[in-house]
Amino acid sequence: MIDRVQASLFLDEPVGNVPQVSPSRAKALGSKGIYSVRDLLEHYPRRYIDLSSVVTVEGSRIGQSCTICGTIHEMKLKKPRYNLQLVEISLTDATGLLMITCFRQPWLMKSFQVGDRVAVAGKVEFNYGFKRMTNPFIEKVGEGPVRGKIIPVHPACAKVSAAFMLRFVQEALREACGCEDPLPLELRLRYRMPSRSCALQAVHGPRTLQEAQEARRRLAFEEVFLLELFLMLRRAREVADLQAVRHRVDGPAVAALREGLPFTLTDEQEGALGEIFQEMAAPRVANHLLLGDVGTGKTVVAAFALAAAVDSGGQALFMAPTEVLASQHFASIGPLLQAAGVVSGLLTARTAPEERARLLEGFSSGEIPVLIGTHALLEPDVRCPNLTLAVIDEQQRFGVGQREKLLAKGEAPDALYLTATPIPRTLALTFFGDMTLSYLHSRPRGTAPRTTTVLQRSQRGRAYDVALERVKAGEQVFIVCPLIGCSAEERDKRAGADEEEAAHPQVTIEGEEDYQGDNLVAAEAEAQFLQSHVFADYRVELLHGRMKGEEKAQVMERFRSGESQVLVSTTIIEVGVDVPAATVMIVEDADRFGLSQLHQLRGRVGRGGLPSHVFLVSASKKPEALSRLKAMEATDDGFQLADFDLSLRREGDILGNRQSGASALKLVNVTRDRAMIEAAHKDARALLAADPDLSLPEHRFLAREVEMFGRREKKAEEEKDAHHSRRS
Ligand code: ADP
Ligand code: MG
Repeated sequence: MIDRVQASLFLDEPVGNVPQVSPSRAKALGSKGIYSVRDLLEHYPRRYIDLSSVVTVEGSRIGQSCTICGTIHEMKLKKPRYNLQLVEISLTDATGLLMITCFRQPWLMKSFQVGDRVAVAGKVEFNYGFKRMTNPFIEKVGEGPVRGKIIPVHPACAKVSAAFMLRFVQEALREACGCEDPLPLELRLRYRMPSRSCALQAVHGPRTLQEAQEARRRLAFEEVFLLELFLMLRRAREVADLQAVRHRVDGPAVAALREGLPFTLTDEQEGALGEIFQEMAAPRVANHLLLGDVGTGKTVVAAFALAAAVDSGGQALFMAPTEVLASQHFASIGPLLQAAGVVSGLLTARTAPEERARLLEGFSSGEIPVLIGTHALLEPDVRCPNLTLAVIDEQQRFGVGQREKLLAKGEAPDALYLTATPIPRTLALTFFGDMTLSYLHSRPRGTAPRTTTVLQRSQRGRAYDVALERVKAGEQVFIVCPLIGCSAEERDKRAGADEEEAAHPQVTIEGEEDYQGDNLVAAEAEAQFLQSHVFADYRVELLHGRMKGEEKAQVMERFRSGESQVLVSTTIIEVGVDVPAATVMIVEDADRFGLSQLHQLRGRVGRGGLPSHVFLVSASKKPEALSRLKAMEATDDGFQLADFDLSLRREGDILGNRQSGASALKLVNVTRDRAMIEAAHKDARALLAADPDLSLPEHRFLAREVEMFGRREKKAEEEKDAHHSRRS
């Protein structure tokens, strides 16, 4: 018993207490974010080299991922460019020669030497007459047969090699062996999961890949489960003493608003509104997130929540991240509310002093029950004696502190958050485990059809044909390129490279952006080309981020007014562009963009009710790149796309790294582990329903783990905040 407790406590000791970890090694580990024994044990292998699938150089197939064992025959450090270093290794086995190219890892020259016997794992390519691997995993192996062994490869750094990392991990595992298992036995049995101690052993030193897989599943479940419990408990604690408002949701203002709408709510909007009203009417403090693409009708739904607050004798604040958004909201729902007998006002930093005084006066007296605005709402003199609802638009654009500040203006206001960021359900469940969620997937009927077509670079004439036809009909065209400019000379080179590439498909080099750079379509050159070759009778203009503000505004104005018909630009048109006659968009090198970004881009055409066409052009020869783009043809739902994109990107890219919990998930993948996340969410809910503060004796250790989780989260958040305040 004592041993188990000791083994468990060992997890939170400093990493320097692990045998073999000297103070200087501990420092090196610290620079990788490994401070405690726990951090070390959560430093999971990046992958495993399965030496049971070892093949010979001769027996390896081009395009196959495999492991080859051999002896280093020669090693060279090369510098093909001033900022590029690569190590080239030739490896021989009894059957042949394999060339290995490793970019940006000069330290390999010190880690290995000629004559070393190593196993390399990667994909076999063939070029310049040799079988090759690019950036494979390289591991020293002893003499003799290696068959059947599985070698974990831990992420290394210059000061601590993968081999050392493994040694430290093994030492730590010895001490932590038998540590308590925080997961309730019932769950472990239900999902047939190994104990924590066994799982840690297995993930760092599996006997079979199957075993590693099971261990990973168990540890991933634990990650989400602890995160969910942490979020739910934190939330419960925050609102423990608060007396929530039970909103009246069937009052006169709500009814009048419904009457006065120039349209009827869609079924989806009704569904979401029902869910919001349920939370608002319940005797708990609502914490609700409404997710939907731009244009799915969130703002109108929020207007109903505002009306319900007023019907309940309360007041409401509606905060948006920018002046433009706040004004838009006020312009669209202000009159609707007005017609329903609800007085509202717009407060931003630009509001004139007299108007501001009038609004604040009216708001604190209750005469103006609803204020829509920007950060200006956070000012201390915005006082709300009776705030019962706070609506925050694009919530991820505000810091936690700002959200809290708004909510703190009332005793226990319900919170409704709106977001157009496509956060798929599993991701939302994971990171917003303490919120209730509603989704709007489709736009209200009446939007014009929009087609999306993926084209190879060589087929892009088809896009120009359509564009030209639409321009002749008086419509307009957006052309989006990933880069600003390159010289004519570079362009010629590029054209040459295109042909060359078609003749000899190039090896793609991971992490080698520079090599592809020459081959990208740049806006400047593209504009010239299109003006002279495609749209000779029309006006083509260029817009990019390096232009002066005034110049940009002029270009935009000429496009908006129809003076120019074709706008070639970088992605800056993403923000705030509304040109009703724009019906065609051609995105060059579309594979360079995330799907969510492409989806946002295509939202810029067809805004005037005309049918529209989007062409995604790519020169990529990679099948994955094209199949990814094909998803854009298949669906118009930004959330589905985000889901798909997620499998290729990190969670943090979507949520921003300020999301709490983001750093805690090391093994979970929100796409692959969808079912697991749903289960962990439900299980955490159920557990807390039965034992709200984890005080049962069998949950003692779980409670401690959640507590430790919270401490690490707090530290991570403080670090992020410090980082953030340094930057701003
Ligand atoms: P979001 O806030 O999600 O971007 P909005 O609420 O601003 O979307 O709605 C986008 C547009 O659709 C607005 O012009 C709004 O008036 C309109 N709209 C909203 N709901 C409906 C509906 N049920 N039927 C028709 N038009 C609607
Ligand atoms: Mg909106």
